Amino acid sequence: MTSRGAEPSLSGWTLCSAGGCEGVTGSAHLLMTEDARVLVDAGLFQGPDEEAANRAPWPFDPRSIDAVVLTHGHLDHVGRLPRLWADGYRGPVFATAATLAVAEVVLRDAARIQAEDLARARRRARRAGIAGDPARPAYADNDLEAVLARGRSVPFQRRFTVCRGVHGTLGRAGHVLGAAWLALDGPGGRVLVSGDLGDADGPLHPAPEPPPPTDALLIETTYADGHHRSWEATARAFAGVVRRTLERGGNVLIPTFALERTQAVLNTLQVLEARHAIPPSRVVLDAPMGERMTELYRRFPHTLRSAIADRLAHGDDPFHPAGLEVARGGGAARDLRDARGVVIVAGAGMLTGGRMLQHLAFHLGESRNALVFVGYQAEGTLGREIVDGAERVRVFGNEVEVAAEIATVDGFSAHADAPVLDAWWRASRARVVVPVHGEAAAREALAARVVAAGGVARRATLGVPLPL
Ligand SMILES: [Zn+2]
Repeated sequence: MTSRGAEPSLSGWTLCSAGGCEGVTGSAHLLMTEDARVLVDAGLFQGPDEEAANRAPWPFDPRSIDAVVLTHGHLDHVGRLPRLWADGYRGPVFATAATLAVAEVVLRDAARIQAEDLARARRRARRAGIAGDPARPAYADNDLEAVLARGRSVPFQRRFTVCRGVHGTLGRAGHVLGAAWLALDGPGGRVLVSGDLGDADGPLHPAPEPPPPTDALLIETTYADGHHRSWEATARAFAGVVRRTLERGGNVLIPTFALERTQAVLNTLQVLEARHAIPPSRVVLDAPMGERMTELYRRFPHTLRSAIADRLAHGDDPFHPAGLEVARGGGAARDLRDARGVVIVAGAGMLTGGRMLQHLAFHLGESRNALVFVGYQAEGTLGREIVDGAERVRVFGNEVEVAAEIATVDGFSAHADAPVLDAWWRASRARVVVPVHGEAAAREALAARVVAAGGVARRATLGVPLPL
């Protein structure tokens, strides 16, 4: 197979990406040798401009794939798995046990949302008198069940047979629960896929395990042109806004993602309380999926920092600030309507839905309260609108004044920054590096540093085979 001026293969592998090579979502990288085809991740494209790509045909025949390996359970790495099955894939799905558990929660939630969207579209079509079915789901429930049943758990750092002639090894990536990088050994050489790499000093996960030496490397570049501030600086900024809000009798609203950020926020609140950096307070977790993920963090402690894992082993709960109440059912927002001095943790992280919206409706208009963002707010989301300074926003169709203090605490990132990424690819001694999973500027910044160091950087294009 030739492409792009017939560059020579340095590893015996050829890459064909079906997503995650020219942007940050939709990760799906097919890696091919002469007689093996391994798909690493099958993620969903996310964002208003990207969603149509989830319906596009695969640039390869799913029936021709020998095996799938998942690096971690984020939707942008697993969300197209049921569709892959619906389109004919019938092989195993390898991942760490924790990633399989996370992926199941994530995929069932996505299936529920697909069903709700579909029901809404059908109601709309019926009202408009449109005949026929307005929207076909990307996959059926039994495709989801079938692909979940093909999960095969693999321990970290144990070489396993991926398919005929190909062996794999998973290493700790430090990104979210269960996250791994993957080394694939084929007849011609090794290709290493970073998956998403974690930061060096986050509260829950240790720094990524060093990579093995490799011929070729696919590396994520989410923050390849950025530097994160230290965890201590982040914790200080977070403590500052929580403390001043509680001291003036306000409520602190923290929108979080279910996986990793909810647990990081709960742990940080607990740590800051123990340090007397914030006053003791009620903390209400009103996030069913966040609670489910926290349960998985307790169940799979072996990818966590040893201090956290040790506490779990001794029956101590590192995700339980003293005043924690886990909301059951859907009535917490109503119950907290007149509350004062409460920390409320709920989804969704970018205010695109979830129970946090109910809390916002009651508390955003009060200047004693604070809305604290601890994650990136994408263009087109309510979170972004508020961060950008909107004075009034619509919540459930009603206009709400933005009177609460709006704070953004940077540094809760689950992604490696430029220094961590650079140390990692240098340690891999890769002969050819393909920057993926990043915006163009970030991918090019990393590629330039590879070239400056005397290495070879190659650019992956959606659906175009690239010899590595
Ligand atoms: Zn991720």
